[in-house]
Amino acid sequence: MAETNAVEIQGVSKFFGFGEYAVAAVNETSLAIRQNEFFTLLGPSGCGKTTLLRLIAGFEFPTHGAIMLNGENIAAMPPFKRPINTVFQNYALFPHMTVSENIAFGLQMLGRPKAEIAARVSAMLKLVRMEALANRRTSQISGGQQQRVALARALAPQPKVLLLDEPLSALDYKLRKEMQIELKRLQAETGITFIFVTHDQEEALTMSDRIAVMSSGKVLQVGDPREIYDAPTDRFVADFIGETNFLEGRITALEGGRADVELAVAGRISASVPDGFVPNGAVTVVLRPEHATLCEPAESHIGGTLTDIIYSGTDTHYHVRLSDSATRFMVRQQNKPNHTAAFGKGDAVGIAIEPDAARVLRG
Ligand code: ATP
Repeated sequence: MAETNAVEIQGVSKFFGFGEYAVAAVNETSLAIRQNEFFTLLGPSGCGKTTLLRLIAGFEFPTHGAIMLNGENIAAMPPFKRPINTVFQNYALFPHMTVSENIAFGLQMLGRPKAEIAARVSAMLKLVRMEALANRRTSQISGGQQQRVALARALAPQPKVLLLDEPLSALDYKLRKEMQIELKRLQAETGITFIFVTHDQEEALTMSDRIAVMSSGKVLQVGDPREIYDAPTDRFVADFIGETNFLEGRITALEGGRADVELAVAGRISASVPDGFVPNGAVTVVLRPEHATLCEPAESHIGGTLTDIIYSGTDTHYHVRLSDSATRFMVRQQNKPNHTAAFGKGDAVGIAIEPDAARVLRG
């Protein structure tokens, strides 16, 4: 029998305001988050991520739909009764209390016995590697250390689900990278389901088991990081995650999940199609810049004029104006030692595309 999902969002909408001023922060959304999963809600500012998290936590109530926790409808359960904890962006620690007192606080509120609290606090200090600073006030520790305490405090009551609302956004780049690894470790060691909110696509790709990409209150695609990056089904997802080339065209043949596409710029391309795709006139093909290389112009390749060469350390970005003069195409190539560029600005170039790299979008 299939395992019960940790959290299910069933046809949930959340409106703020009334009548013509109503805003659908979450709009008829359904999602299933599995047990022990590191699940990320990813999307631009205002897409409804935080509202969805607050609905799960119980700080907001859905206008429509149901939220299930381990198969049980939790609509009537107040936030403090839910076996769910939240780590907020600003940590919300008590500055006048020590690290240990902060971690103990939630357990005391739950009326847990003193001996159990002492044992949990000590286990949590070890888990987040903060034993040495146990008696320091949280106003006297660094941002990264505060982040660890906030995590320890949220994990101490052993919630079934931990909600994390952009918890790394206040940290500098290096610390953020370290904490990403730390969070993954904590999730693996505790086995707790993590629901993580971010607008940072790189963070989502590195940390998550699965990602839900959101826009305007709706979930557009759910998948593991590779699916989301390599096989976006929707234009918004393809554009939001990484850099992408879009080529317009029409399908001339469709067989076995592959399409021959005649491009609006001169040339043809073979592209895979999403499951259940029904062709309906014009299509858009997406292609990641690292899946293309520059070559000598040839009949069999799309091509154009090299307009810009941008060096970015690890790789070089080549901007090509395609033969219709309107479409821009980017090729990204990893830099190798002692490499000399084969093409210069203004050269006519061809673009060779790796097999299986191009995909037709659903819409
Ligand atoms: P961010 O990354 O900027 O935090 P978000 O994706 O978390 O954004 P939400 O905070 O969930 O987005 O907001 C979704 C939409 O709902 C936005 O248009 C926002 O203005 C609106 N909204 C959120 N909370 C309220 C509220 N209490 N009253 C009215 N509108 C709200």
